[in-house]
Amino acid sequence: MTMVRGIAAGSPVAVVGAGTMGTGIAQIAATAGHPVFLFDTADGAVDRALSDLRSRLDRSVAKGQRTAAEADRIVDRVVGCGWLAECAPAGMIVEAVFEDLETKRLALAEIENLAAAEAIIATNTSSLSVTGIAAGMQRPERFVGMHFFNPAPVMPLVEIISGAATDPEMARRAAATVADWGKVPVHCASTPGFIVNRVARPFYGEALRLAADGVGDHATIDAVMTGSGGFAMGPFALMDLVGIDVNLAVSKSVFEQSFHDARFAPHVTQQSLVDAGHLGRKSGRGFYAYGPDAPHPAPLTLDKMPPPENVEAHGDLGWASGLVPRMLDAGIEVDVVPGGGPGHLIFAGIHLMPTDGRTATELASRQTLGTNEVVVFDLVHDWESVTHIGLAVADQAAAGAIERAAGLFQAIGCHVSRLDDAHGLAVMRTVAQLAAVGADTVGQGIASPADVDTAMKLGTNYPSGPLEWADQIGVARVAAVLSNLRAGFGEDRYRVPFYLGRRAATGQTLRDGGKND
Ligand code: NAD
Repeated sequence: MTMVRGIAAGSPVAVVGAGTMGTGIAQIAATAGHPVFLFDTADGAVDRALSDLRSRLDRSVAKGQRTAAEADRIVDRVVGCGWLAECAPAGMIVEAVFEDLETKRLALAEIENLAAAEAIIATNTSSLSVTGIAAGMQRPERFVGMHFFNPAPVMPLVEIISGAATDPEMARRAAATVADWGKVPVHCASTPGFIVNRVARPFYGEALRLAADGVGDHATIDAVMTGSGGFAMGPFALMDLVGIDVNLAVSKSVFEQSFHDARFAPHVTQQSLVDAGHLGRKSGRGFYAYGPDAPHPAPLTLDKMPPPENVEAHGDLGWASGLVPRMLDAGIEVDVVPGGGPGHLIFAGIHLMPTDGRTATELASRQTLGTNEVVVFDLVHDWESVTHIGLAVADQAAAGAIERAAGLFQAIGCHVSRLDDAHGLAVMRTVAQLAAVGADTVGQGIASPADVDTAMKLGTNYPSGPLEWADQIGVARVAAVLSNLRAGFGEDRYRVPFYLGRRAATGQTLRDGGKND
């Protein structure tokens, strides 16, 4: 296959719409050496954009990120246009006008009329269908989505979205162009939310349900998701940062465009907060309060307990195997008891199990365990760096069981929170759902496994891509968690995707079709 090249170095780029995103995209193209034409229909918008660009570059000079001469060269390359027709010589025209279908269609009709025959025409839409925007274009085959993330000059990821009519060669040229600009392109077919905004929905959706069901309060769920899941921010802190209104709008858009797929259902809590004007940091209040005197709620943690002296490790602990060396390092004696079956630890009269999507109460009610003292623990992303873990105890257990289990995790340096005994706890339930949506995205031919993982790591800063994470947990284990969630809640929301179920059955990984470790 011949290597596809981006637009020629030094060829002009036009950006139509000089708002937040247009200005950022103009900066990126100018930094890469292209002359940039910047156009906007609103009076004064281009001048404002040029002055914002100047001050942003001056700040970067002050920080030592570039020289004053470089900043001058970048600003000089961006030319404000009074007429759209001035954009005609561009080799690529990026539309970044308001997120409104009619506005975009009208702007693109004008753009098409003046663009050079070989020019790539792109839209920076974040939520509209690229196929839908292209309907009515004379040459939809040269039209592609180029979804930059905000702030565009900083965020490395660009989703390259192909509508139904997009020529794959055009998508490859658009990807090669942004790669030349130092960005990381991922390809996807036009689908609600593209990759990032689609696959990320369960990160918020499951947390909202966990809190509403009383499984944990916001601070406790956030602490478990960061300390055990390895996420940079907890879901509630992140929704407050993004804006609860913005997050709700994306959730509604993906849900509605997916014909109400239960996996993407927004939560009434989001709507209530928006109705109340509690939009997160920007309004001073969301899930948390902000400001100098605002309280900072701490996660609820269990008091310090003595560590167990001796632990028996039975069966295949799978993703939880990393706990064994941590216990040994903490001076706990571990007897590895030969034999198969599901992994579990026995100590101080407790049966401690990694969550498989069933509740501790369900597990205790099975006669096979022979004990009521069942405690389950949540998924850990990395046993070397875990700092906080969530546990749940069976309803049948006698008082003190969860405290004794806490002593083990405290001995390895973790804070321990008691969660209500919900299926899959917080991290496992969320990661299983992220993997489910990621697997559907691959199975339905929307994006490749590598691009889904890359998009989620660069677009949302997840510690692992959802497919590689599912492969590490074990695809069959993830499928079992989803089946248990589905059985537990009786909801289609937790269905096992066809692609994931099939790979679980054949022992293949989600990423490359290879065998699971
Ligand atoms: P914005 O409101 O800051 O800017 C939009 C600009 O488009 C305004 O200056 C407006 O005057 C101009 N405009 C409107 N109609 C026009 C037309 N017909 N011709 C030329 N200019 C026109 O919006 P934004 O945040 O920069 O978003 C632009 C696009 O990028 C939207 O599609 C949005 O969904 C997408 N996007 C936004 C973000 C974000 O976080 N802001 C992130 C990714 C993608």
